[in-house]
Amino acid sequence: MCSVIVVAELLTVEEALRLVLERVPRLAAEPVPIGEAAGRVLAEDAKAVVDLPRFPSSAMDGFALRAADTPGTLPVVARIAAGRPSSRPLAPGEAMGIATGGVVPEGADAVAPIEHVTDEGEAVVVPTAVATGQNVRPRGGDVVAGATVLEAGIALSPSRLAALAAAGVATPLVARRPRVAIVATGTELRRPGEPLGDGEIYESNGLMLAALLAEAGADVEQADRVADDEAAHETALARGLEADMLVTSGGVSVGPHDLVRPTIARLGAEEVFWGVAMRPGKPLSFAVRGHTLVFGLPGNPVSSLVGTVLFVQPALRAMQGVRDPAPRFAQGVLGSPASRRPRRDDYQRARLEWTDGLPVLHPVSGQESHMIVRAAAADALVHIPRGEDELPSGATVRYLALDVPTGA
Ligand code: AMP
Ligand code: MG
Repeated sequence: MCSVIVVAELLTVEEALRLVLERVPRLAAEPVPIGEAAGRVLAEDAKAVVDLPRFPSSAMDGFALRAADTPGTLPVVARIAAGRPSSRPLAPGEAMGIATGGVVPEGADAVAPIEHVTDEGEAVVVPTAVATGQNVRPRGGDVVAGATVLEAGIALSPSRLAALAAAGVATPLVARRPRVAIVATGTELRRPGEPLGDGEIYESNGLMLAALLAEAGADVEQADRVADDEAAHETALARGLEADMLVTSGGVSVGPHDLVRPTIARLGAEEVFWGVAMRPGKPLSFAVRGHTLVFGLPGNPVSSLVGTVLFVQPALRAMQGVRDPAPRFAQGVLGSPASRRPRRDDYQRARLEWTDGLPVLHPVSGQESHMIVRAAAADALVHIPRGEDELPSGATVRYLALDVPTGA
């Protein structure tokens, strides 16, 4: 007789992400002053309020004139500064001094740059012909009033904020920020700075999660650490379920002290999945209660990191209406061989080095899921797809940059 062992197939990362994104509710929109809108996601197409440029504008410091009057010596009848237009049009045969950004007066059709002329005070000598339209930025050349500046679903980067401000959008309509509750579970956890008793460790996931989720636009509320007992779990998780998203760390495996899944089930959350075919971070759970999404991240710090980048941040982006919320993988080259797992996708921590303009990824030593210090040396997560054979050095791989704040 032969016995058959049935191995339950875990969800792939792609399937799990699809299940998450399917359940994401869209947050309401709110108007926000442009000065506070950095990083927010537009909830509707933003239209220009004014033409940009708003008037024919000089691209140079020089002299506004009619191209047909050049070359020649022309009387200078006015001096125009930015914000100080001429009170009258330019007549044929005249020139007006003009600064960059000054209004090109009616009647003028070109600006001769100061470097190409001789300014004699009362008159200007223009030695060579100037072409019509030269150095004049036409009204509406960048955008015309009423046209779309940026489409809904776009996150407001610095240049996009500038575009909205320039086009007169003072109060863009953006998605409200998702409110996220973070609950770190574990009787062994102590705050950094506190003395450690036997078997105790410093809590580090809550801090990391708060920063990662804020990066994706969340308004984070961090609960105090929660001991591994049912009453403490129930109180903290019930409170967390009031947020748009509850993210827990620890307590989602199969041990007797792993209480997160039974507790959120008792509190009425429906589990969508538990377990993803990846390493690290396999025992990740995802549940939904009403409009609240619940992510149960494994306690090992690197597992928490990987689960957050692959699922939680994308969910936050999707809640805010970002059009393509999935992780943004880039392509690079493996700097050393990497062994593969037959059934699980691996997300190895790697240093990214640019060699001949190519991103080369060197997995760091110490790839175990508790090794947050080893992981801290990495700039990227390299995706090593499940498979039988080793990936050779030089293989093309996908990687996710781990954003490192300035100063690193
Ligand atoms: P768990 O998922 O609760 O079984 O925890 C797995 C491992 O991660 C254990 O060694 C825990 O002590 C550790 N761990 C759990 N939560 C945290 C946390 N918030 N910060 C640092 N390590 C943690
Ligand atoms: Mg635990």
